Amino acid sequence: MNLSVELRHHFPAIDIAIEFSVPSPGVTVLFGPSGSGKSTVIAAAAGLLRPDQCRIAIGGDMLADTRAGIWLPPERRRVGLVFQDSRLFPHMSVSNNLVFGMRRTREREIDFDEIVELLGIHALLSRHPNTLSGGERQRVAIGRALLRQPQLLLMDEPLASLDTARKSEILPYLARLKTMLRLPVLYVTHSLDELAQLADSVVLIEAGSVVAAGPVAEISARADLPLARRDDAGAVLICRVAAHDATRQLTRLSCGPATLWVPQADLPEGTLLRVRVPAREVILARGEVDLLKDALSLHNVLPGTVRAIAADPDHRATLVEVALGGGSVLSRVTPDAIARLALAPGTRVSALIKSMSVEILGGARGSRPVAT
Ligand code: ADP
Ligand code: MG
Repeated sequence: MNLSVELRHHFPAIDIAIEFSVPSPGVTVLFGPSGSGKSTVIAAAAGLLRPDQCRIAIGGDMLADTRAGIWLPPERRRVGLVFQDSRLFPHMSVSNNLVFGMRRTREREIDFDEIVELLGIHALLSRHPNTLSGGERQRVAIGRALLRQPQLLLMDEPLASLDTARKSEILPYLARLKTMLRLPVLYVTHSLDELAQLADSVVLIEAGSVVAAGPVAEISARADLPLARRDDAGAVLICRVAAHDATRQLTRLSCGPATLWVPQADLPEGTLLRVRVPAREVILARGEVDLLKDALSLHNVLPGTVRAIAADPDHRATLVEVALGGGSVLSRVTPDAIARLALAPGTRVSALIKSMSVEILGGARGSRPVAT
């Protein structure tokens, strides 16, 4: 099933023309600079803004198709909304906030107790919003949105008002939640961390249009996109825990045919997880190289092919996308390295990655769905 969005709208300062189609269920991160049109997509999906032209469908369910005269008002859309500020009712307890507007379906899809447990808010139930921390308030706001049994969850920079510590406190909850929810989520953020942790699909938006859209593993590894030119650029890989080597304190991950050794991870074999490999950490070698087992501290030498090369003048660097078979990595090297190794699209290379450089991000897609 797909969530497809098509939207055209004329604002005095900008013409918005955004179109994408992404798999559902799944988290789709809308990423782009301020003023590019991300919140306009959220508002149109919620029914709060009626664009000049708009078509939004979840599978066969049409929320809007203005050409066909379809425009469901907000109250008739089963959407959950979470904004930067939690917008909880201050005079109500957490518990009453949660059940406010809770939709009662015959077969309860998203269960109260399960949400409370998943978001870790049990101890807060009798408290009032003004006694909660920002992160706690956002967790409650997310719970409230989910208990409305939405068929679409819309989150517009839900963590933007939190400091770094609060953000990292709440991200694991979202990551856990994401593995369990079986519904489409549109998630707006400026944070590459949130994108890497949560996105299944990414839609890059600039100046009112879509620059690129696709699976997170593909978009995060593209050398030609603005994401790749950020200091913290890095490719996301979806891997499986293949085996542990307790003696060497290492874990072997498989990403398709590629094997990645990482410091021992406390996860059962078979677990699907995502990792991030920062572009500046990836060394390139021409051709196949032998791992000098007794001479190098390195654990990962991955054979691949250069797929694309792009300039990165801000870092006086060049970005190289290397296809590994089961995914791609991005490497930021000097232009001099490109010249010395004579790298071009199609060149066979090896990507050298320290096991310590691989960031383990958590669940990829869970196996225990709670909502359909
Ligand atoms: P983002 O969420 O990516 O920061 P928005 O979707 O909120 O961007 O807005 C994109 C642009 O659309 C804004 O820069 C502004 O020019 C225009 N815009 C958005 N909402 C309105 C509005 N209500 N009235 C006039 N212009 C608007
Ligand atoms: Mg916005």
